[in-house]
Amino acid sequence: MSDLARKNILDLAIYRPGKPIEEVQRELGLTEVIKLASNENALGPSRTVIEALQGALCGVHYYPDGSSYRLRQVLAGFYGVDFGQIHLGNGSNEIVQQISLAFLEPGDEVIMPVPSFPRYEPLARMMNAVPREVPLADYTLDLQAMAAQLNRRTKLIYICNPNNPTGTIVRKPELDRFLALVPDHCLVILDEAYFEYVEDEAYPDGLDYLRDYPNVVVLRTFSKIYGLAGLRVGYAVARPEIVDCLERVREPFNVNSLAQEAAVAALGDQEHVAKLRNLNRVEKQYLYREFSRLGLDYVPTEANFILFDAGRDEKQMFQSLLRRGVIVRGGFGYPTRMRMTIGTRYQNERFIQALESVLEEDE
Ligand SMILES: *Cc1c(COP(=O)(O)O)cnc(C)c1O
Repeated sequence: MSDLARKNILDLAIYRPGKPIEEVQRELGLTEVIKLASNENALGPSRTVIEALQGALCGVHYYPDGSSYRLRQVLAGFYGVDFGQIHLGNGSNEIVQQISLAFLEPGDEVIMPVPSFPRYEPLARMMNAVPREVPLADYTLDLQAMAAQLNRRTKLIYICNPNNPTGTIVRKPELDRFLALVPDHCLVILDEAYFEYVEDEAYPDGLDYLRDYPNVVVLRTFSKIYGLAGLRVGYAVARPEIVDCLERVREPFNVNSLAQEAAVAALGDQEHVAKLRNLNRVEKQYLYREFSRLGLDYVPTEANFILFDAGRDEKQMFQSLLRRGVIVRGGFGYPTRMRMTIGTRYQNERFIQALESVLEEDE
């Protein structure tokens, strides 16, 4: 029956998410499994979020507010932008898809870094647009090489900042220079899923560009530091004209009622966010020390994950760690590098123990 499908979708790879904990427990007969594979927050949602969810449970027989009015209002207030500049998605993943649906004509070109977030490329090809993948230089977005790809067919440019899976950032002077080169017929998508974790003071806040650059779209999410990955809620901040285009391709009830309530509560609990940011900072230093002790190279990170060099084939290392009950992630096109999410001290210690035991066994 696949001959009935649109030809170009048959070339699209099916997304393989990080292995779920239950699947590993089932397959390997392990009781304790530590998942550091999908950059989820280390502590989970805060108490106020749990309480908001409990309160919202009795209302799930109603359709959600399709306009997510309250959440959009709270977000607009939080950032000091207009209500009409906020667009919500079922995760920011969905907004990447909506951007493709709303803006890409066949033959349009989409400039993206690689390796980076793995959804930019298939969602361009889904629309018969042409991905222009630009390799990173020294694990960092190569904005000069990306600028060299600009032409009259360019429609979208993805800047993942910090970049997943490397954790590196584009700094403000470089972004300023790049944006000055981008013609008006291209949208620049600043994917800032890890915005809240960044410590580097030269990190540019995407929202600061909205006034001077009408073609900038900022993507953020409740999946990472806010701890709501399972509920699926992300957002774009952009000019109202862009939001209007995204609204036209949006499913009427794309953000469910629990997600809306939880997101409002999560945004209101900035103490929890600060706690996670501190934990991440401390644990990052712990992991840097441990990687150095083990003689393994790593890329210094501005996010809640670290790309490290396992010193052996990443596929083998993935299996070896899995047998020891630790899930991390490889498959980024680096033969020996893998990405691990920064967890709690307990999780990080378990990860380091497992890693050390694999390295010792190999000797
Ligand atoms: C995790 C992540 C997202 C967020 O996806 P959601 O759909 O909001 O869960 C977006 N972009 C990048 C680069 C990510 O790593």
